[in-house]
Amino acid sequence: MAIESTGAPGGPHAGLCETCFFQRVVTNTRGSRFSLCNRSRDDPAYPRYPRVPVLRCGGYRARAADARPDSLDAGASD
Ligand code: SF4
Repeated sequence: MAIESTGAPGGPHAGLCETCFFQRVVTNTRGSRFSLCNRSRDDPAYPRYPRVPVLRCGGYRARAADARPDSLDAGASD
């Protein structure tokens, strides 16, 4: 599911995922943005692309301001 823009500068709106360590934002060739959950790699209980906005999630872990995985892109293949 694509992330719907809030219209705010800088802002996709994926709920909790937006501040979660495990989120990675993926952009396709048409410019649509998707919120990918990196927990889905190791745990099938988590969908690869959760339905957004995510309002509650047992796997949520707050992301440190300097540790955004989508900027690190640790070998993901999307
Ligand atoms: S663990 Fe939960 S809150 Fe974090 S990215 Fe995945 S679905 Fe979103």
